[in-house]
Amino acid sequence: MTTSTKKPIRPRTVLVGVAASPGYAMGPIQAIANRSITISEEKLPRERLAHEEQLFLKALNNTIREITSLKVATVERLGINEARIFDAHLMILKDPTLVNSILDRVKKESMNARWAVHSKIKELIAEFEKSKSELMRERAMDLRDLYNRLLAALDDSGPVIENLTMTSGTVIVAHELSPSTLISLKKEEVIGFATDSGGRTSHISILARSMQIPAVSGLRNVSVLIEPGDTILINGTGGMVIINPNDEDIRHYEEKLAVFIKQKQELFTMRQLEPMTRDGKYVTLHANIELPLEADNVLDFGASGIGLYRSEFLFFRKGTPTCEEQAEAYGYILRTLKPYPVIIRTLDAGGDKLVSDISATDEANPFMGWRSIRVCLDRKDLFKEQLKALLLASKEGNLRIMFPMISGLNELRAAKALFQECRHELTEQGLEFPEIKIGAMIEVPAAVMMVDAIAKEVDFFSIGTNDLIQFTLAVDRTNELIANMFEPHHPAILNMIDRIVTAAHREGIIVSVCGEMSSDPLSTLVLVGLDVDELSMTPWSIMECKKIIRSINYEDVRATAKAVLKLDDAQSVNRYLRQKYLQTITDLGISSFITSQDFGSDLGDP
Ligand code: PEP
Ligand code: MG
Repeated sequence: MTTSTKKPIRPRTVLVGVAASPGYAMGPIQAIANRSITISEEKLPRERLAHEEQLFLKALNNTIREITSLKVATVERLGINEARIFDAHLMILKDPTLVNSILDRVKKESMNARWAVHSKIKELIAEFEKSKSELMRERAMDLRDLYNRLLAALDDSGPVIENLTMTSGTVIVAHELSPSTLISLKKEEVIGFATDSGGRTSHISILARSMQIPAVSGLRNVSVLIEPGDTILINGTGGMVIINPNDEDIRHYEEKLAVFIKQKQELFTMRQLEPMTRDGKYVTLHANIELPLEADNVLDFGASGIGLYRSEFLFFRKGTPTCEEQAEAYGYILRTLKPYPVIIRTLDAGGDKLVSDISATDEANPFMGWRSIRVCLDRKDLFKEQLKALLLASKEGNLRIMFPMISGLNELRAAKALFQECRHELTEQGLEFPEIKIGAMIEVPAAVMMVDAIAKEVDFFSIGTNDLIQFTLAVDRTNELIANMFEPHHPAILNMIDRIVTAAHREGIIVSVCGEMSSDPLSTLVLVGLDVDELSMTPWSIMECKKIIRSINYEDVRATAKAVLKLDDAQSVNRYLRQKYLQTITDLGISSFITSQDFGSDLGDP
């Protein structure tokens, strides 16, 4: 006798997260870097039972909260009908019979919470799947979804598996991805990715934009909801994924993708045009790059230099690169861009960019920990090697150097002294170097308070808004739970930028903004109005930024900047900017940009 086992139909699941990198992708999930959740039965001693009950109730409440917020987001973005699925989920979760029977297994049978959830829900799924009623079989799908969510909420372990074997056309779904993992993947193999964790300015998101891979982060539990064999649709522009999309979703996706590709092609007609406002104010546009090879294309994207090369990406390998290897990489970028300027930022390891041979891995607050210039000043051997490599490469082009995460004069002076020491040691050997401009990143609030003094000791400023916002607003840039609090238009941030620009211009030095804020359309307008001289961004945002700059009047955005500096909160600023400029930006057909918080543009469909 043969038995046929029919594969259950997998549920269509819509998840809303953070728009990490624009674009659309759809494909099978061929590689899953999933958190492994182990479920085994434990017989617990009596004194542990109350604790286990609490664990379950907490997980239940968290899951209800999560689904409720998902429902709200889905109503806003897709409409009430699409959100109905979540009503069914909430009804099941609030069903006292189900909840009590799980609690009974803990209380009366001394089961651990995870096993109680697993055994009860699996029993129900099996029962519903056998049912002749289609409605009951649909409930089984809902239960499978809830099973994963509840177990994820109960899971406190979760090593992330990062050794991926790839085939082409892969959509990666992971709890968390590190920048070093992403750069080790071949671009042609990865067409998109979705992660549970992360925010818009996590380095994994920044890297995805550089690599032009559509991505959604901050999805919270996508990695436990998928199964091998699922298809996933990534909407990186709107910040949404659909697991197992239906025909309607796929039709929408194809339409959106076609428009996206057309708009991108049209943008290339902009690359030779000057980034100048209608009343003649020129704004320098530079590119941010993470890999030396990216230098090949930045001029094609319309940049007139590199405003930030994140040199730490060179260190994502086994063993730190030697001075010669570094000099070769820096020299390559400088030669490729010559005579245009290239700002190379010294090592900014740590935070969410752990370099295996250097970084500490067990810090409680890695972004505020042993990171960046702090590492360099502690590990002078390493820092001097990099500074010497920069000096050795300097004759290859127009090099500028900047130090990250400067929090005061001591650090700046120490870094500059080490640079002079390196220069001296090399000139002793008979080598000669051109003058090299030295800049400081202003990304720590303490540096803003000291900005007048710092301006006297550097040749330029570059504002790292990603860190400046995270530190000023006390909002971890990688934490998806507070992604909506990461507000570039918070008046505290705008007033800080104003203060930095004023101090810089008083000393006759140039100010650039190299954080992600510079490539957001509404922020671009404000930054031009605040008199920032240069904007540096992901190469392929440059043409859109040009389009915006060419459509505005400097005098007008100057008045706008003055007005928004006086507003009370980010929402008021966003409202003001939307009222004034939303139509202009919509008319320009800017769609691949990821829009400002609360901007509410292209979020309508998958
Ligand atoms: C920033 O903080 O804004 C910045 C540009 O640097 P990074 O994102 O690498 O920290
Ligand atoms: Mg930074």
